[in-house]
Amino acid sequence: MSKRNKPPRPEPESLGLPPCGVDSHAHLDMDGFDADRAEVLDRALASGVARTGNVFLGPEAYQKNRHLFAGRPEIFFLLGIHPGDADQYSPEAVEAMRQAFGADPRLKAVGEIGLDFYWDDHPRDMQEQCFRAQLALASDLGLPPVIHCRDAFEDTLRVLLDAGYSGRKLLWHCFGGDEEQAGTILGHGWHVSIPGPVSYAKNEALHRAVAAIPLARMLLETDCPYLAAEPWRGKRNHPALLGFTAQAVARIKDKPVDEIWTATGRNACDFFGLPALSNEPEDTP
Ligand SMILES: [Zn+2]
Repeated sequence: MSKRNKPPRPEPESLGLPPCGVDSHAHLDMDGFDADRAEVLDRALASGVARTGNVFLGPEAYQKNRHLFAGRPEIFFLLGIHPGDADQYSPEAVEAMRQAFGADPRLKAVGEIGLDFYWDDHPRDMQEQCFRAQLALASDLGLPPVIHCRDAFEDTLRVLLDAGYSGRKLLWHCFGGDEEQAGTILGHGWHVSIPGPVSYAKNEALHRAVAAIPLARMLLETDCPYLAAEPWRGKRNHPALLGFTAQAVARIKDKPVDEIWTATGRNACDFFGLPALSNEPEDTP
């Protein structure tokens, strides 16, 4: 048997999903998409991903790159200083973000913000200061925060509860935890966004968590260009591949993939305040 006989990976268009899916978290302004961004955006639409949230990692990235999505109304925006860039934090940077949010209705959430003790790129007190300042900004703006948390669950929780976020609108991005952590997040009334690794066979704790998370609180995301779902694991991720994440969730929950797709898309529109999507063809007058 030669490797050439391996069956080709299925393309996302072949999943035939209705045009009401939402990728809640993507990094399409990164230079890994410079060569084919228009094609990537077109493939998302052709694969049922009707909207995608592009996450700008700080006010400079936002100012520099937002033009990349001119004429692409299906892309909405998030903006936040990532804990890995916590040294970008200054009162001036937060002021620049405040002005951006005030001027641009495409900006729907403050994120991704939080704590990252895995890479630990910056001192933890610096990360926490950056996180707290942006939670306060989100509160002032009346927009929800989107949380990045890696190997820092207890501290992230402590900061969020201290900032009064229990029971308020909040999205836990790229959830990779277990049933107990999911229970804590849900107990505070928050939403959870599920990424591609839910499709990896060995992530059994995550599978059990996803089985327990009610669909009403669930969103889907690629976090592209990272974390492509099976069967595209290890390749560049992009929004069109979101359907494979929906497929994995559907298997875990033993529900039709269209139901996962439609429900998570609706949840994302509600969460970010986007106009509702229909999975029916448009009515013609
Ligand atoms: Zn991200």
